[in-house]
Amino acid sequence: MSSSLPTMQNASPTQPYTSTDTTCTNTLSTDYLIPVAPRPEQIFVAGQGHTLIDQHGCHYLDMVQGWAVNTLGHSPVLIQQVLAEQSAKLLNPGPGFYNKPMLELAQLLCLHSGLDQAFFANSGAEANEGAIKLARKWGQKYRQGAFKIITFKDSFHGRTLATMSATGKAAFESLFEPKVSGFIHLPFNDLTAVEQAIDNQTVAIMLEPIQGEAGVIPAQQAFVKGLEQLCHQHNLLLIIDEVQTGIGRTGQLFAHQALGVNPHIMTLGKGLGGGVPISAMLIDSEISCFDYGDQGGTFNGNPLMCAVALAVVNAVLEKDFMANVKARGYELAHALQQLSQRHGLGEVRGQGLLLAINTGKHNAQKLAEQALAAGLLINAPRPDTLRFMPALNLGSQQIHQAVDCLDQLLAGECA
Ligand SMILES: *Cc1c(COP(=O)(O)O)cnc(C)c1O
Repeated sequence: MSSSLPTMQNASPTQPYTSTDTTCTNTLSTDYLIPVAPRPEQIFVAGQGHTLIDQHGCHYLDMVQGWAVNTLGHSPVLIQQVLAEQSAKLLNPGPGFYNKPMLELAQLLCLHSGLDQAFFANSGAEANEGAIKLARKWGQKYRQGAFKIITFKDSFHGRTLATMSATGKAAFESLFEPKVSGFIHLPFNDLTAVEQAIDNQTVAIMLEPIQGEAGVIPAQQAFVKGLEQLCHQHNLLLIIDEVQTGIGRTGQLFAHQALGVNPHIMTLGKGLGGGVPISAMLIDSEISCFDYGDQGGTFNGNPLMCAVALAVVNAVLEKDFMANVKARGYELAHALQQLSQRHGLGEVRGQGLLLAINTGKHNAQKLAEQALAAGLLINAPRPDTLRFMPALNLGSQQIHQAVDCLDQLLAGECA
């Protein structure tokens, strides 16, 4: 393959990556992996800032960023330094002991969320699994065994058995039966449906402030406010899954802050580690009820990942960082609206740098494949939706590059 393709070679990485890594990748086979996802043929060997580089040295402008994970872009110097320093100091004393980054991260997240206590885990699903367990334990202790959790259609909460059961994806419905019982999937943004479904076995309501995997579908403020009200009225826990929306993604540190509600439980993941695996459950201390042994995990709260997350959250909290997320968010949304007008596409949805465009009659999956071939990484969560989840330190240059690329692809398809 010629290294002159894909075409977007000028995506300026922070430090130019020169050597290509063909020595070992030529002999690599994909046959030894259990196929769990359709993957393109590229083997990525390096990433810098907004750019990913494959084994042939081709550059790609990355608007997926590890699935809304790389808050500061690929391999930022900050994370390189923290990993080097912390790994030289202390990798993992084990979950049965305190360590410094664990305590510092818990305090920082609590201070900025208004919640009181943190539990760390390794994935979003694991944090949500913890939230489900805590709600059930609380129901056993304080609500005569109430256990039902209301979740929403098209929601996504993870791939463990309980979080798949909580998830409202139609495609999950028939899988891995029997699922974990006790989840009720209701239409999103329909307060009346929730009102009618609550009974004395209901213990919690769980939702995403913006349904990410569903194609970037925002919860209406009145809906979330109404859910909070219902929780007070019926003594239910409000669980907000901010695995995708948290840590600055929407232009607020946490998306629910813009909705003016106070959850009992919030879960974080994805962007929290800026590329490394760490997730968190934050809770109101009034509902804290795990007994020793109820919850835990070998790698939970390890100092290596906590130190990275601490640096990421501090970077996001720096003056002007969130202002850039908002400004670039408006700029990208505006550019997408213009793209929509030029090519007869549909609406633009989302907030901050979690945005989607309805592609109308164009097949989004096909567009994403064409974009990949042209050097742009973009995600199609639905056949009619393209999603953007770039690094939060995005610049105007990358926005123009990405939208120009889509503009050309759409023009070519229409010609
Ligand atoms: C990605 C995601 C999860 C699952 O996180 P994993 O780290 O993949 O387990 C849960 N909830 C939401 C809202 C997500 O976007």
